[in-house]
Amino acid sequence: MVPGRTVDLRLRARSVRVRAPGKINVALRVGPLREDGYHGIATVFLAVSLFEEVTAFQTSGDGVSVSVNGNVSVDGSGVNGSGLGRVDGSGALEPAPGSVPLDRTNLAVRAAELLAEVSPGRTGVHLDITKRVPVAGGMGGGSADAAAALLACDALWGSGFSRDELARIAVDLGADVPFALVGGTAVGLGVGDRLTPAISKTPLHWVLVSSDDGLSTPEVYRTLDAIRLRDGIEADPRPAIDPAVLGMMRAGDAPGLAPLLHNDLQEAALELAPRLRDILETGQDAGALAGIVSGSGPTIAFLTHSSGHAAELQSLLEAEGLRARAVHGPAHGARLAPEPAG
Ligand code: ATP
Repeated sequence: MVPGRTVDLRLRARSVRVRAPGKINVALRVGPLREDGYHGIATVFLAVSLFEEVTAFQTSGDGVSVSVNGNVSVDGSGVNGSGLGRVDGSGALEPAPGSVPLDRTNLAVRAAELLAEVSPGRTGVHLDITKRVPVAGGMGGGSADAAAALLACDALWGSGFSRDELARIAVDLGADVPFALVGGTAVGLGVGDRLTPAISKTPLHWVLVSSDDGLSTPEVYRTLDAIRLRDGIEADPRPAIDPAVLGMMRAGDAPGLAPLLHNDLQEAALELAPRLRDILETGQDAGALAGIVSGSGPTIAFLTHSSGHAAELQSLLEAEGLRARAVHGPAHGARLAPEPAG
């Protein structure tokens, strides 16, 4: 309950649909493992035109249920959903990398539950998620779902939180959730949650290549620590972003940006999924300006000159049997979408 907050019943609707973007990390520098078990990072987030969609439906119960691409949970306890999740021996849903939980561990459900704690006008809600961002792909799809659920439930319940207030709630859900709310281009410090928006008006055009087997983000970080230990590499305790990256993005200069793309997690992702090396090589051979593993991978982002170049590269990569998709960024953050038809 927020002191002094009144509930505007007129704002209530029976369903609210929100779209929130996936992201790529144009630059990602990772500091050493901290005593609290996290790594400090410095990153440049870019929201891209690949959107998750979350529709929040008011229900007569008082809990939160969820469906993902048509797979529905039972009483919020979670069921298996054709490749989206698996049920372990105890009957609890234990998500494997690449799966989406249909129980209370789903980030969108956690977002709704967290917002309900401070929303006097809360009701039961069903969240219907349409996933387009590759799962466990290093593109923050779960974070986008959480951001979308926060905004959708805020509108459904007439809670009236400002973007800043929602961002403060978002931090508790995950380091990438605040960025999915704001979108655009931003520098992320801390664990990626301390955001400074950056100017980049000219769109940059990319081709994303997704892989079937997701990578677990904690495992990629552990592998990076092991590589550093093995090779005697000392990580910078104060990771920082090269200002030239922001300069090239501000200018929309794709050829200038290409040699500056950098991801400290890339080596670790390549060690865990060696096939990604071939994908990077295939993209380069097909004429990409540069390629980079997005976040903790395995999605690869190829930078191109223009929308035409991106479309052409997408076709070439598809002809090689890869799952490719042209996108552009910056894209908007979580935003209300028109009501679904019907
Ligand atoms: P991270 O944000 O941890 O770097 P990612 O961007 O690589 O992850 P996500 O698609 O966000 O990948 O999912 C990471 C894990 O989070 C999945 O393996 C899944 O078990 C869990 N998860 C929880 N809720 C969701 C959700 N709504 N969508 C996708 N995954 C979810």
